[in-house]
Amino acid sequence: MTTTGSLSTDVDVVVVGAGFAGLYALHKFRDKLDLSVRVFEAGADVGGTWYWNRYPGARCDIESVHYSYSFDDDLQQEWEWTEKFAGQPEILAYLEHVADRFDLRRGITFNTRVIAVHWDDLESLWEVTTDTGEVVRSRFFVSGAGNLSVPKNPEFGGIENFRGEVYLTGNWPHEGVDFRGRKVAVIGTGASAIQAIPYIAEQADELVVFQRTPNFATPLGNGPIDPDEVDKIKSDYCAVRDAARNHFLGVPFEQVQPSALAVSAEERRRTFDERWNAGGFRLFIDSYQDILFDKAANDTVADYIRERIHQRVTDPKKAELLAPAGYAYGTKRPPLETNYYEAFNRESVRIVDVKSTPIDEITDSGVRVGDRTYDVDIVVLATGFDAMTGPLMAMDIRGRDGLKLGDKWAHGPRTYLGTTVHGFPNLFLITGPQSPSVLYNMPLAIEDHVDFAADAISYVLRHHRDVVEATERAEADWGALTNEIANQTLLPQTNSWYMGANIPGKPRACMVYLGGAPTYRQTCADVVAAGYSGFDITVASAPLAAVAS
Ligand code: NAP
Repeated sequence: MTTTGSLSTDVDVVVVGAGFAGLYALHKFRDKLDLSVRVFEAGADVGGTWYWNRYPGARCDIESVHYSYSFDDDLQQEWEWTEKFAGQPEILAYLEHVADRFDLRRGITFNTRVIAVHWDDLESLWEVTTDTGEVVRSRFFVSGAGNLSVPKNPEFGGIENFRGEVYLTGNWPHEGVDFRGRKVAVIGTGASAIQAIPYIAEQADELVVFQRTPNFATPLGNGPIDPDEVDKIKSDYCAVRDAARNHFLGVPFEQVQPSALAVSAEERRRTFDERWNAGGFRLFIDSYQDILFDKAANDTVADYIRERIHQRVTDPKKAELLAPAGYAYGTKRPPLETNYYEAFNRESVRIVDVKSTPIDEITDSGVRVGDRTYDVDIVVLATGFDAMTGPLMAMDIRGRDGLKLGDKWAHGPRTYLGTTVHGFPNLFLITGPQSPSVLYNMPLAIEDHVDFAADAISYVLRHHRDVVEATERAEADWGALTNEIANQTLLPQTNSWYMGANIPGKPRACMVYLGGAPTYRQTCADVVAAGYSGFDITVASAPLAAVAS
């Protein structure tokens, strides 16, 4: 640590998390900007989401050639994916490879959780405290803590009384779970459950799925990767990445049609069939532009998916339960599946509707719903996350005048560009709320945000300033724009984690900027080109110390 004058800092930047975001942030800040950086990671190794979510069937649902870093051409040329959509072990191996290749582990303190992040107004720096008792003073604080990393507490109690085993999809044992010969309960039918259920169904003696809201799951279309396709992509990866970044979702799809309502039923069906068979997010995002905006357009695709579910599930009663109704397709995050619906064709797999009668409790022997207890050996909680804001709240972030982020966001997140917060200077949120984040290809979204933070930090340092802070006005305008766009879509009409509605008592607010990645990226570029419009970039009240490297 270096101390000059009255101020001292330990490092230039503290980063939280060693997943896709933290790893790239470390590389960018340390190796490209030559800053001193400390990264804290709660896990024992790198990987983030892909470190924790080891449940059977966990895999990405954007093609791996796109769901991967673009920042280093040698890396993207040399890495070989084996499947179109890589499974969790392969994605984790990729991130471990990135950590080795760029010598990142030496910059990361593992098994350490950040528990307090307090802004020091006098000294214009962040004081970051960890659960091991370490306190680090840094000029900038960057959260790569992820959007879906704090599991939701289920509404029902009694888990501690259960005599069997309980597993959380979001914190799965490294040694795996043997379901053979066991009776298993899976609670939840979101994306995680939809990936896990076919594997558990294959092994377990009995599987009972507790479903509150059925999902519009559509085929992933996974398989071995096509080497010719990969060669083609690698021969001009730069153009492929450009095309991805110029697409709403951050994937180079290019077949979207204007309106589902402007074509005949036959033509619409042909389009839906093609997208359904091609897999991935094509049905959702590469069929018709108006399905997220116009309920009548949405009904056409929702009806199509319901029909497909009925075709695949042989028992009409099960099919009826599994077919979603009452909300629009895409307003809950659409899961992609492999053999999900077929799993319910096994006699050993039952489905229990817990919408009409909610789960009361976990007893010592199983799951009680009303006056019936389903006795099981294993309970799998696939009940989701305190999405977007949960990971930030868990860190006790306090800005100017000791203002708690939780108090500032009492009625929902307020950010500028989804990356910065007025009253919380020198803080950058990677894929924060009110950015395209979860509706953008994550690795690219992360790179964009880390680059934005790095450019802003360089700008501050180059101009011999100390503090960069979103103005109150810019933040308010951004919030208004984000809500205005959200209200043009069907999303606010549905209870989803996009709206904070999966957590009882959480303020209802749209967590995502829905204007699409290209518009968002252009806005950020305009902000930078205008010399950081919407930001105050100032000198600290007291002079800052030089930082030892
Ligand atoms: P989720 O989508 O929030 O699903 C949670 C499930 O648990 C829902 O079906 C929910 O029902 C149910 N649930 C919650 N509380 C319940 C209760 N008290 N009683 C009964 N059911 C309850 O969580 P997730 O499946 O972990 O997925 C979260 C997100 O992670 C996804 O949307 C996606 O963005 C990401 N993810 C991605 C992939 C991938 O393929 N790349 C895989 C997994 C996850 P309600 O719907 O009624 O609330």
